Amino acid sequence: MIKIEHLVKNYGANCAVDDISFEVGEGEIVGLLGPNGAGKSTTMNILTGYLSSTSGKATVAGIDILSNPLDAKKLIGYLPEQPPLYLDMTVEEYLNFNYELKGCKLDRAEHLGQICDTVRIRDVYKRVIRNLSKGYRQRVGIAQALVGNPKVIIFDEPTVGLDPKQIIEVRNLIRSLGKEHTVILSTHILQEVQAVCDRIVIINKGKIVANEMTENISNAVEKSRRFNAKICGPQKEVLAELRGIPGVAYAEALAERDGDAITYTVESERGVDIRKKLFYRLAEKGWALIGLESLGMNLEDIFITVVDQSEQKKTRVARAERKPRRGDRVTMEREVGAELFEDAKRQREESARQDTEDDE
Ligand code: ADP
Repeated sequence: MIKIEHLVKNYGANCAVDDISFEVGEGEIVGLLGPNGAGKSTTMNILTGYLSSTSGKATVAGIDILSNPLDAKKLIGYLPEQPPLYLDMTVEEYLNFNYELKGCKLDRAEHLGQICDTVRIRDVYKRVIRNLSKGYRQRVGIAQALVGNPKVIIFDEPTVGLDPKQIIEVRNLIRSLGKEHTVILSTHILQEVQAVCDRIVIINKGKIVANEMTENISNAVEKSRRFNAKICGPQKEVLAELRGIPGVAYAEALAERDGDAITYTVESERGVDIRKKLFYRLAEKGWALIGLESLGMNLEDIFITVVDQSEQKKTRVARAERKPRRGDRVTMEREVGAELFEDAKRQREESARQDTEDDE
């Protein structure tokens, strides 16, 4: 349904999108994930015909967005990062305005009514947009993208600035839209793609560093497995024993106690399942293993790993030769991960502030 081939966008000397190619099949929900400045908005703006590319091609249902923008745009509903709302209009006026702007031929009352039900804005249909909360405004923005029933819907950072409840609502809404539409969304929030998308395309510094089905993304980059193990025994000796088990890359005691048990985080080397070995070794020593919880690899780790892989860090070889320690991850990639979370936190705080101001 969507095909992007060797897309390049330069802003002067700055290359925002650097030879990106990917496809999105009909009915797929694909997430573009990357830190701020990665090139997500630029890619989406080219795809929606807002921007021209320096070189490369983008087609929607076979129609070239650059050479045939009007026909291509009829197939696309777009929600930019800042919803293009006219704050002085009521929701009703705004959706009717969009209906006319798009030259929509569907039965007006029925179509707009369906959209209002889908995005659940019937109760604010007669209200002035300026007086709506951020969550409702976002839904009105989504409603505008749905006018004309486009095959493809593109969302740029659809949950930025929403509170956690609104985020869940919008994510559920996007998932339900995926049943009838092809959806691309961009986000810098790692959990968002996992919650919503069938496939994840990770972009960093204008380049694609991963393109995987969501369920495969952690397998694709999984380099180790982490567990929290609750073990009864003398802490120093247990820790030394854990670190001596072949296949254990890292072990650390946490400040967590459960009766006479202490919790340890244990990380295995890539591709090694250490659980049985761990169990038997502890049993031999007479130390009871009373809990073993898999921590998996979180998306932050995945992101850091793929960025790391893509940048072919020279330091990696040196790092692999030593036992990994927690501090080793304090690298440039770690900062990228931390930045993603800081951004999400800032935006949530900002939204909470706005929502107290925007009394519905
Ligand atoms: P993202 O959406 O992933 O945050 P963008 O596509 O907005 O990233 O930006 C990619 C890069 O292009 C950034 O380095 C950004 O500073 C730069 N950029 C974006 N828009 C412009 C512009 N209009 N002029 C110059 N540089 C831009």
